[in-house]
Amino acid sequence: MTTSSAADLQRPTYREISLYAPNREPCAIDLSDNTNLWGIPPEAGRAVREAAAAAVTRYPALYAAELKRALAEYAGAAPENVVTGCGSDDVLDSAMRAFGEPGDAVAYPDPGFAMIPIFARMNGLAPVAVPLTAAHDVDADAMLATGARLIYLCSPNNPTGTAVSRAAIERVVEGAPGVVLIDEAYAEFAGVSHLDLALRGTRAVVVRTMSKAFGLAGLRVGYAVGAPALVAEVEKSRGPYKVSAIAERAAVAALTRDGAWVREHVALAVVLRERLTAELAAMGLRALPSAANFLLVPVAGAPAVAQAMRSRGVAVRPFAALPGVGDALRISIGPWAQLERCLEELGRALAGSADAAADAARPESAVAAGSPPPPSA
Ligand code: PMP
Repeated sequence: MTTSSAADLQRPTYREISLYAPNREPCAIDLSDNTNLWGIPPEAGRAVREAAAAAVTRYPALYAAELKRALAEYAGAAPENVVTGCGSDDVLDSAMRAFGEPGDAVAYPDPGFAMIPIFARMNGLAPVAVPLTAAHDVDADAMLATGARLIYLCSPNNPTGTAVSRAAIERVVEGAPGVVLIDEAYAEFAGVSHLDLALRGTRAVVVRTMSKAFGLAGLRVGYAVGAPALVAEVEKSRGPYKVSAIAERAAVAALTRDGAWVREHVALAVVLRERLTAELAAMGLRALPSAANFLLVPVAGAPAVAQAMRSRGVAVRPFAALPGVGDALRISIGPWAQLERCLEELGRALAGSADAAADAARPESAVAAGSPPPPSA
């Protein structure tokens, strides 16, 4: 019998893939993952509390038919246009497996959603990053010039928060050789959707989630809307039993009975997003124009700034050297009291890093570099 090391058994592609592991250590105020920070929609909460024993002891519905019906109603589509999954992550992953043969290219915007190149590689596909334009729009011609069989767009885009222009989306959908995935995880906050393209044509598939506006991130419910023939392919690759019975019940309750709660908190997030943008501007920080429930704020040395803020109880998501943006902090929108604390700690961290930079610039910096930070840092 031959022996082999674990390294011999790995797929070479997997050696280049690391675990998606942003810092998720609990933090008093967590503005790092763009979930709904106003709590659980009331009817969804009731459905979870009142779930029958069978929802735990028996398998859930194979393809979540009841949830499909409720999602179709919400999206103005037919149940045949809808496929569900364990979060939209699962739907995106399944869609790549469904539409890409190993070796095919997947074009995606950069900066863009971090999981896309990871899902592409895991499915044997070749991710091709296409820079956004200077105005943070999708460069439709550059996307099409890749010749990629699968094109991924995201509007509002994560992590920039910017909406993609309708013209760019239409141009990509019209000119694409294969399927165009349009990720609308944050569409409720933009008040704009491109679902019509998915329902009218045969190559656009809109991918959505109940993790953001609907506040159900912990239950893992995502879905896609598109032509029945495309959606059926995603469903094959997604496989059975991906949405738990409790998640399905809660999601149906949220879709059918929590509409007012969801709309109210989406509207609040939009108002507070604009208020935070103004407060940041008063500090000399210019957030990118956002259509989502978060802001991307260019800040030099963002990883160190985020670390300083986290040590004082406020988590935001740092990004280093994003193309066309540079270092930046992504801040989720939540209740104003949380955003106020964030502003306070951001100001404190920035003052701390300015002090550190001034120390480093002094001739005796070699000594200062080794000394402990001042108490305010
Ligand atoms: N797409 C985008 C653009 C996202 O930001 C996220 C969550 N970070 C997802 C998809 C996945 O969300 P979920 O799996 O919770 O539906």
